[in-house]
Amino acid sequence: MKKVILLISLFFALTGISESNEVNIFSARHYDSDVQLYEKFTQKTGIKVNVVAGKDKSLQKRIIEEGKDCIADLYITADAGRLGAFQEKGMFQKVSSKVLKNAIPSNFRSPYWYGIAKRARVIYYAPKRLSETELKGMSYEDLADSKWKGKIVIRKSNNVYNQSLVASLIANNGKKKTAEWAKELVSNMARKPKGNDRAQILAVAAGEAELAIANTYYIALMLSGKKGPEQQTAAKTVKPFFPNQDDRGTHMNISGGGVLKYAPNKINAIKMLEFLLTKEAQEHIVNNTFEYPMINGVQPNKLIAQFGLDFKQDLKTNVSEYVKNQADALKIMTEAGWE
Ligand code: FE
Repeated sequence: MKKVILLISLFFALTGISESNEVNIFSARHYDSDVQLYEKFTQKTGIKVNVVAGKDKSLQKRIIEEGKDCIADLYITADAGRLGAFQEKGMFQKVSSKVLKNAIPSNFRSPYWYGIAKRARVIYYAPKRLSETELKGMSYEDLADSKWKGKIVIRKSNNVYNQSLVASLIANNGKKKTAEWAKELVSNMARKPKGNDRAQILAVAAGEAELAIANTYYIALMLSGKKGPEQQTAAKTVKPFFPNQDDRGTHMNISGGGVLKYAPNKINAIKMLEFLLTKEAQEHIVNNTFEYPMINGVQPNKLIAQFGLDFKQDLKTNVSEYVKNQADALKIMTEAGWE
């Protein structure tokens, strides 16, 4: 009898029949457009999508606390550092999917989570005050140059985008050099770190600083008018500059997701991930979030494509490395006086 039950449950486990015809997504991506995307998935597959949206920390906390009772199948968030940290807590399960492996370059995925879209963390400047030729050949390392004293704005060290950027510097230059770099960068800051990425771009537009560090999609978001006419006008006076073109390339990061360890609907969660890497889904994503597509054959939205698409991306540093250096990154930033 026991054997029969075991065989039956094995059959259901293998076929996925025991799964309900739905998938539960916990998402820290704050985009209404993602909901329309999930509706497309339902139309295609008949699988109902339930979304729990929230902040990264509170969603992760809930998933951990509820453990085996948690309904979540798929966790989606921004930044490889966050995905990696959640993986280190053992919250994802390994997924092996040929579709995902073929769609996503190896440096933008791990066996536990997969990149859905890309972003670069770049330098912004106002061409009216600073010509592009002055920036030519500039790297993140050059932000430590004393010629930028009092001229740089960047957000706080508790921000995961900054932690991943500094983690990538540790991976490439080592801890000692990065610690020296951080000290110099702090002494070059135009003000105490405050505000989000858009606030840094606005500071350059307002002439409070000459260089800002922020992610690529924010300039497009501002230019789109979705953040109001003032930010749209300000964004028109600022341009992104892609650092490290002469060596490893510009620092890249991802939005991504992984199937949770206790996912009740594992197969549907994989189907959703695979759907997110289709041309249709990628086009929807890049035209709403202004990120770069993960797959070939999809063009970014023109608001971001206008700044150039052939820049050299850092494909040498695997984004799954960021988490390894993130604690050191935060320590280095804090010790450098980076608030
Ligand atoms: Fe963001």
